[in-house]
Amino acid sequence: MKERTTGWNIDNSYSRLPNTFYQKQNPTPVESPKIVCFNHTLVESLGLDAKMLSTNTGAQIFGGNQIPNGSEPLAQAYAGHQFGHFTMLGDGRAVLLGEQLTPDQKRFDVQLKGAGRTPYSRGGDGRAALGPMLREYIISEAMYYLGIPTTRSLAVVTTGETISRETELTGAVLTRIASSHLRVGTFQYAYQWASTEELQELADYAINRHYPEVVTAENKYLSFLREVIEKQASLIAQWQLVGFIHGVMNTDNMTISGETIDYGPCAFMNEYDPKTVFSSIDVHGRYAYANQPPIGGWNLVRLAESLLPLIHDDDDLAVDLAQAEISRYMDVFETYWLQGMRAKLGIFNEESEDKQLVENLLEIMQKNKADFTNTFRALTFHGPDDFVLFETVEFKQWNNQWQKRLKRQPQSDEAVRKLMKQCNPAVIPRNHLVEEAIEAAVDRDDYRVMERLLEILSKPYAHTADQNDFAKLPPKTNVPYRTFCGT
Ligand code: AMP
Ligand code: MG
Ligand code: MG
Repeated sequence: MKERTTGWNIDNSYSRLPNTFYQKQNPTPVESPKIVCFNHTLVESLGLDAKMLSTNTGAQIFGGNQIPNGSEPLAQAYAGHQFGHFTMLGDGRAVLLGEQLTPDQKRFDVQLKGAGRTPYSRGGDGRAALGPMLREYIISEAMYYLGIPTTRSLAVVTTGETISRETELTGAVLTRIASSHLRVGTFQYAYQWASTEELQELADYAINRHYPEVVTAENKYLSFLREVIEKQASLIAQWQLVGFIHGVMNTDNMTISGETIDYGPCAFMNEYDPKTVFSSIDVHGRYAYANQPPIGGWNLVRLAESLLPLIHDDDDLAVDLAQAEISRYMDVFETYWLQGMRAKLGIFNEESEDKQLVENLLEIMQKNKADFTNTFRALTFHGPDDFVLFETVEFKQWNNQWQKRLKRQPQSDEAVRKLMKQCNPAVIPRNHLVEEAIEAAVDRDDYRVMERLLEILSKPYAHTADQNDFAKLPPKTNVPYRTFCGT
């Protein structure tokens, strides 16, 4: 039943799956919840009442002290390969309130992250610190406005409690919105610990929710695999095209919907280097920028393995069928990536030499330590005049090739510029800007820096003058930027 005052219209379809997939779990109440971030536009697009929910009524809900009407909270079970090692996981600090049905008949998970201990918490406290939740809020919203599929952030509340890490930190809860929280790891869990019937129920559930078009396919579970491969190849291509490094591409952090999830140690790269890694724990560079596409493939093999019993009764045949799908992944990825790179260079049609042209540019960028985002921005506007890369002989040679290439298509200069503006963001959530915003909020309780940053990041393709300050690089240091997860 839709609630009149706040607009909650919650269904709990996930809780109708076999109970091996979750445990009923209420959020653990917090001392004094206070809203510090509130996503008005998202609240409204979900059919919720922003006026009511931005008051203490909302704080009580987003802090986990009050359960919204219709919600049957639960923690989801899942497993996953973390840095290559298989383990049981599950929502250790998150609680799913249910699925909000929006006025335009869409279904979105509403999840509280940092909501207290669950049966899957293992040694953890179930809590989250303010800094990392603000980081997820900023970067997920930036991804959304860049046009990249992602979970979103509805609100952050501080809890009035501290949490113990190396030091005492301000506690917070993030309300996360997602098409669903089904992961590759959810299927690994089902394959490992549930019956084949239960695995099938999960697959049917995922198909109904995300890929209803395959219901009538001849082999719907194989088609389902193909669709997830397609979505993930497209997603990871989009990450590469903006220099986004996820940082922790474990199989539990890869969605079935094709949305980016789990903004822990992620970051955008400044100077172009395929080996870039930011995460402090990724010592071998498993999740480095250049490794993201093959790791995506590795994760999808784990999904394929989990689906084998559904793909065919004959084990060998099931493997052959799954293998045929998996073997397409790198080509699908590359097609999306090249399509995106062509567009970034203002190229409309296809020529066989295009890949070489792109690779030559990337090589020159790497050699000259050119900033990824600003190079494409400078190419779009033929400047600024002092753009150092443009002074090099190798760039000038490359530029001749590129200009010739642009002339071999019918589109006008104007059309080229327009396409490039649409595909090359002026602003990304640069690490130093994100850090500044978080520091002002956490250390000085000043959210204006973050609000301004979010406003700028909400129009990455506007190319307006007020964005210039946000496109600047941080002062050079010898200390590499490091990100951390798990707080
Ligand atoms: P992540 O590295 O964010 O993908 O998380 C990996 C696993 O650790 C998931 O099962 C999380 O639920 C769990 N986890 C992370 N932080 C905590 C915490 N503070 N308390 C309990 N579980 C946690
Ligand atoms: Mg995770
Ligand atoms: Mg995480």
